[in-house]
Amino acid sequence: MATYRELLAQVKTEIDEVDATRARELFETGDPVIVDVREQDEWDEGHIPGAIHIPCGNLESRIEAAAPDRERQVVIYCAAGNRSAFGAKTLEELGYERVWSLAGGYTDWKRNGHPTVQPRSLEPAQRQRYSRHLLIPEVGEEGQLKLLESRILLIGAGGLGSPASLYLAAAGVGTLGIVDDDVVDATNLQRQIVHSTERLGESKAESAKRTLQALNPDVTVQVYKERLTSENVDRILGEGWDVIVDGADNFPTRYLLNDASVWHDIPVVHGSIFRFEGQITVFKPNEGPCYRCLFPQPPPPELAPSCAEGGVLGVLPGIVGSIQANEALKLAIGIGEPLVGRLLLFDALAPSFTEIKLRRDPSCPVCGESPTITSYIDYDGFCSA
Ligand SMILES: [Zn+2]
Repeated sequence: MATYRELLAQVKTEIDEVDATRARELFETGDPVIVDVREQDEWDEGHIPGAIHIPCGNLESRIEAAAPDRERQVVIYCAAGNRSAFGAKTLEELGYERVWSLAGGYTDWKRNGHPTVQPRSLEPAQRQRYSRHLLIPEVGEEGQLKLLESRILLIGAGGLGSPASLYLAAAGVGTLGIVDDDVVDATNLQRQIVHSTERLGESKAESAKRTLQALNPDVTVQVYKERLTSENVDRILGEGWDVIVDGADNFPTRYLLNDASVWHDIPVVHGSIFRFEGQITVFKPNEGPCYRCLFPQPPPPELAPSCAEGGVLGVLPGIVGSIQANEALKLAIGIGEPLVGRLLLFDALAPSFTEIKLRRDPSCPVCGESPTITSYIDYDGFCSA
């Protein structure tokens, strides 16, 4: 039976190693995946910039998600180059063709004065609260920290804003803004689950804030008890939002928000509902169409549907608002394929999902090549409720 020392010596003859200087050249000239296989506490004390953290024990199960391309270069490291030697061997057995173990490990890397980063890390209570995120390699601690630092603005704390805000708060989005000038009404409670019977007559934005902060004290909720107008839109959008979730139920807000988000360069996760049907898409400035690419001007007031009085199955905004939260989380973390240039239609009766391609209009009055709309327009008279 071989001793550890013999086994290590044997493995080191079967793998390729690089020293710190050569590794740094590789990082600067190529695009290798850098894998840190040390334990959590070692990682927390500092690591190589750009490295992903997969502790030894999880290497086999997590490497495919982190590095699906087996031909891509992989540099694997630990503290001294021993655990990573075994790791390199494992990766080769899994079919990775160009794997190097960093000889001397992180210790040597640091001793030679190469760059390191000290990651901000989660508190023990946060590690517990977000454990189901930490278990997904695409989210992990890095993704969770991104969420905690991200700022998402919700337009409306109604049918769509309720489920969206609940899931975003539960997920640990650090700052949520809520714009709503309405108060909780008895007809809201059939679907607006962020509110409750005891909140009747209370400001919707304040009511939502109480529910969300009770759900997750990590979340700061900024309340705007006002309706979005040409007067306040620059002030509110100018506060540094990463993503906007649009749960507005009227045309004036939708157009105003569209124009402002293009000019402020903030992606908008759009959702709308009517009876049994829902629609979701992402308007990402400069990457896909905006709302005006599809509908350059609002319909004349006499042809606009009476939106405030539209009936809706109570669970439908729950489904659509949750899909909006899903898109917002993906944008905040930077994973997956956002619904840019795609409209997702949901029919609750069938039930079915249908996808429609949306194209950017080069002659769009706002995001086109020669825009004709360059200042805010306050439309009115759409919902003659
Ligand atoms: Zn456009």
